[in-house]
Amino acid sequence: MRIDIITVLPELLKSPFEASILKRAIEKGLVEVHFHNLRDYTDKSYNQVDDYQFGGGAGMVLMIEPIDRCITSLKAERQYDEIIYMSPDGETLNQKMANGLSLLKNIVILCGHYKGVDQRVRDRFVTREISIGDYVLSGGELGAAVLCDTIIRLIPGVLNNETSALTDTFQDNLLAPPVYTRPSEYKGMKVPEVLLSGNFPKIEKWREEQAQKRTEKMRPDLLE
Ligand code: SAH
Repeated sequence: MRIDIITVLPELLKSPFEASILKRAIEKGLVEVHFHNLRDYTDKSYNQVDDYQFGGGAGMVLMIEPIDRCITSLKAERQYDEIIYMSPDGETLNQKMANGLSLLKNIVILCGHYKGVDQRVRDRFVTREISIGDYVLSGGELGAAVLCDTIIRLIPGVLNNETSALTDTFQDNLLAPPVYTRPSEYKGMKVPEVLLSGNFPKIEKWREEQAQKRTEKMRPDLLE
C-alpha cells in the first residue's frame, strides 16, 4: 500500500511513522508513506498557501491552487483509490472503515488547517471525507496519523501474530476480553483460574463470555 499525505506541517506528522509498528511496516516494505509539503507547490511569495475567506470572518483558508498542483502531480504518476480529506464533518472513522481502507493500493490523505480548505477542493478532488470524532483539531495531521495507524496495522504481515488484530475490540462488534500476564498473583490479586488451566476450549468460552459481558456493560450500543 502507498499513502501520500499532503500537509502544511510535515514535522507534526513524521514521528508516529518513526517508531514501533508503523516503522516496522515501512521497513518491511509493506507500506510506503510519503509526505508532501503544500508550501512546495505554491509560487507565491513567502510560500503562501492560505488566504482570507471571501465574505469576511476570522480564520484563513487553504487555497485551491497549491492543492490542485500537488494532487495533479501525484495522479500523473499513479491511480488513486481514494483522495481522503480529514474533516470534522466527514464520516466518523470506525473499525469497519479501517478494514476496508486497509485493502486499498494507493490513497492520498489531505490535511486541512486553519478554517479548512477551499470548498472547491472538496467538490473537485476529494472522494471521501473522514473525521476521527466529534471534536475539532487544529489540523488534519493528528487525524491522518490516527487513520494511518489504524489502517496500517491491519495490512497482512504488519503485526507479528496475524491473528492478533482479529481478536481486537470492535472486530466482531464486541469489546475485547480482559487480558493478564505474569505474575499469576500480585499483592493478593489473582489471575482468573481458567486462564491458567491449559484447557483451551474452556478458555475460549470464558473469553467469549467476558467479551459479551463487557460489551453489554460498557458499549450496549454495539449489540443493537
Ligand atoms: N472550520 C472547520 C474546522 C477546521 S479545523 C469546521 O468547523 O468544520 C482545521 C483542520 O483540522 C480541518 O480542515 C481538518 O483537516 C482537521 N480536523 C479538525 N477536526 C478534525 C476531526 N475531528 N477529524 C479529522 N480532521 C479534523
